[in-house]
Amino acid sequence: VSATGRLPRWLKRPIPRSNSNHMTDSLMEELKLETVCENAKCPNRMECYSQQTATFMILGNVCTRPCGFCAVHRGRPPQLPEADEPDRVAEAASRLGLKHVVITSVTRDDLEDGGAQHFHDCVVAVREKTGATTEVLTPDFVHCKDALKIVIDAAPTVFNHNMETVPRLYRRVRGPKSDYRWTLQMMKQVKQYNPSVKTKSGLMLGLGEERGELIDAFADLREYDVDFLTLGQYLQPGEKYLPVVRYVPPEEFDEIGEIAKSMGFKKVASGPFVRSSYHARDMAETE
Ligand code: SF4
Ligand code: SF4
Repeated sequence: VSATGRLPRWLKRPIPRSNSNHMTDSLMEELKLETVCENAKCPNRMECYSQQTATFMILGNVCTRPCGFCAVHRGRPPQLPEADEPDRVAEAASRLGLKHVVITSVTRDDLEDGGAQHFHDCVVAVREKTGATTEVLTPDFVHCKDALKIVIDAAPTVFNHNMETVPRLYRRVRGPKSDYRWTLQMMKQVKQYNPSVKTKSGLMLGLGEERGELIDAFADLREYDVDFLTLGQYLQPGEKYLPVVRYVPPEEFDEIGEIAKSMGFKKVASGPFVRSSYHARDMAETE
């Protein structure tokens, strides 16, 4: 069953224009950087920019994985990590006056360390230049056992890796290389490497998951002491992507969010428009 094409009323809200005071095209062009916020025309931009938060995409825009929900271009990435990118991200964060900087990337299975050192360098550069809190939203680094340690050695404020969906739908949604248990292991290892780094994960709702499966997944995350959880509606980015099975009403997001909260997460953001970096600063500052 597919619900795609019939957008319910609660998802019809005007997409804000970019706030030109903050995320100027010319600054991004000058520094040769991309933000997910502008690229994805994220509906939360006004809120996030007012919280002085933005999400930068490092390591290029070509991904080596074929996730069925994601519109990022896939193929063989043409370039190696750019040595000056960490400084450029730090410069942009400084000029934009950001207080919380989220750093994410495509999956780079072509790189020996999956891009881990580059994540590390970006976190250090941003912190040194701006003093902002930092959050990494990383790929699964499935080919490199040292990658996670390299990233955590930079001591980001928050380590975020999305579970995206329940185990039954994992391969269908995240592709054949994905592994539910691996995702959980990453969460466990982060705390082993540095217990002061906060951990965070997120799931998209509306892909066919059952309530009980969601609750089991929350329990798995809590078993590994994951601090923060985001739950948002999956929206099909185009015809060739996975269909939306169901649009989850806002009241149900509230209810599921309450269930998750009662399971011990320190903060839960749950709603149709919630994205992985939504209210990220607020979460990062939670003790
Ligand atoms: Fe940017 Fe994330 Fe906020 Fe969207 S939710 S505007 S991508 S920081
Ligand atoms: Fe998109 Fe990330 Fe999947 Fe690549 S790994 S297709 S960027 S969700």
